[in-house]
Amino acid sequence: MGKIITIISGKGGVGKTTTAINLGAALNYFEKDVLIIEGNLSTPNLGLDLNSPEVPVTLNHVLLKKAEPYEAVYKHYSGIKVLPASLSIKELKKIKLSKLKEFKEDFKKLADYIIIDGAAGLGEEAIASIDLADEIILVTNPELPAITNALKTMELAKEKKKKILGVLITRVKKNKIEMEPHEVKEMLETPILGMIPEDDAIPKSINRKDAVIHTEPKSDASRAYKEVTAELAGVYYDSFKDRERLFEKLTKKLNVLFGGK
Ligand code: ADP
Ligand code: MG
Repeated sequence: MGKIITIISGKGGVGKTTTAINLGAALNYFEKDVLIIEGNLSTPNLGLDLNSPEVPVTLNHVLLKKAEPYEAVYKHYSGIKVLPASLSIKELKKIKLSKLKEFKEDFKKLADYIIIDGAAGLGEEAIASIDLADEIILVTNPELPAITNALKTMELAKEKKKKILGVLITRVKKNKIEMEPHEVKEMLETPILGMIPEDDAIPKSINRKDAVIHTEPKSDASRAYKEVTAELAGVYYDSFKDRERLFEKLTKKLNVLFGGK
């Protein structure tokens, strides 16, 4: 039986989908069996971001009882399993999101680690993905509005007696304007799982419709995601080994300067 980890946030756009994908890719890198499930039925982008845009059977079919959960699972070339939602809004109104939790036991049979790319805020979609969770990871940026909203969403998860693994602070920039990790920890009264730096490699990986762990394995963001995941999965990871050598850094800079890739 697998374990369901739901990724939630207060605000949208903080890096939930990026986290779901890269946590999944890192678990897969550590040879774990992993499935990522779309939790945003109204605005799904998990499938798009992993290059499986419109597939014939989706979570929508499962919720409408037109297909079994295993029939909506696709295998990414890397080995990650993905259960996307439909991009079409045609039958969306007929779907009862509260039905999602009825599939919990079925989902748990599909992989050892099941990651839900949850919805932001306190709405019906966010509640449905929290209801599915065995464990919760809260994603926030180190900014006051994101943290204030994160607090509300976390309270909702706590009310539902969910185990909160901790907070992942993403898009951390090297300036003094943002909040410090200890301030975030104090405000949210939850352990910090890790920090993911602001890194151009992420938007580039989204353009290439793949995890940054696959597109730029030696980038700062990729190493940070692997570190957090290793801790969660209880495996050893030597991030030093993945560091770009000086020579590689120089080649990259020269390529940028002279118009290479
Ligand atoms: P959410 O799922 O919470 O709405 P996304 O994962 O889609 O958020 O990320 C929102 C935007 O932020 C995307 O355009 C993505 O490229 C960017 N982003 C996320 N994490 C990082 C990062 N560590 N560095 C730079 N950009 C990032
Ligand atoms: Mg998202």
